Amino acid sequence: MEKVIIVGSGCAGLTAAIYSARANFAPLVLEGKEPGGQLSTTTLVENFPGFVEGIDGPALVMNMKAQAERFGARFAYSTVEEIERGDGFIRVKIDGEWTETRALIVASGASARYLGLPGEKELIGHGLTSCATCDGAFYRNVPVCVIGGGDSACEEAVFLTRFASKVYLIHRRDELRASKIVADRALAHEKIEPLWDSVVSEYLADEAGEMRGVKLKNLKSGAESELEVKCVFVAIGHDPNTAAFKGKLDMDENGYLLPCNGSTATNIPGIFAAGDVADTVYRQAITAAGKGCAAALDAERYLASMGA
Ligand code: NAP
Repeated sequence: MEKVIIVGSGCAGLTAAIYSARANFAPLVLEGKEPGGQLSTTTLVENFPGFVEGIDGPALVMNMKAQAERFGARFAYSTVEEIERGDGFIRVKIDGEWTETRALIVASGASARYLGLPGEKELIGHGLTSCATCDGAFYRNVPVCVIGGGDSACEEAVFLTRFASKVYLIHRRDELRASKIVADRALAHEKIEPLWDSVVSEYLADEAGEMRGVKLKNLKSGAESELEVKCVFVAIGHDPNTAAFKGKLDMDENGYLLPCNGSTATNIPGIFAAGDVADTVYRQAITAAGKGCAAALDAERYLASMGA
């Protein structure tokens, strides 16, 4: 019987691991399909407190992992397939094998959706990103584009006007999905130019492998064109990684976990949720880390109340 299993190894999972390990629970961290989480796909992180010159995303998560290991956290390159509620414990199916644990911290994150075009993986971090807050400041005085028509796309477009010389908002329809106030703010901005009924059909990279533009297709006219941009911000939504918990843990209509009572506790005693898997608002490394800490403390208190 494990005491604490942590699902996910992004900022939330690793912070939970540091706290749980320091509380002597020797937590088992299941690293999941994207070890290190979303930070592992970014470059310089400039807004994580404590790093005056910024820190590389992958280096930040590797440091957190090493810190957790120093206090006795254990790591496995495994994913959770299913859970079952037991009496005072939780059964967890890990890579086909059932294990039992007193407490489970779900920090499995959310994965940004991308278009699925050729060359996409290689371009991430080289002019292709899903996080304007993380990467916007690197693109000063150059044209960029945002793909999507929702609140995220419009907010990111407005945010990017602080840096970029021009922000193209590429949307597949001629009407934004974003709420009116957010959409109006984006459309009224002099630096933002909407490109309606348009989809990106190809990314264009230069010889160094950096983004230099996109090929566009107008869905109404069929016309194709090229657009010169230094960075493409994809904002077509995120998918929370909650497939393994469907029907067991309470979720909203988009599959995000719904912790109860302002804590990280879920509807099943002993299961706690932290980070982007339960966050539709902030989605920042530091907020995920904060929730990871809270989940570990909630789990510790739960285990104490169970006499574990
Ligand atoms: P979203 O509302 O689902 O919008 C996704 C956008 O991407 C839509 O415009 C959609 O087009 C487009 N899209 C989806 N798949 C695409 C594809 N394969 N190719 C091209 N375009 C594609 O996602 P979101 O903007 O991330 O927002 C998620 C939730 O968080 C929403 O409920 C939103 O209201 C909320 N949110 C709120 C705020 C705020 O209140 N300040 C800020 C951010 C997010 P269609 O419109 O044609 O479907």
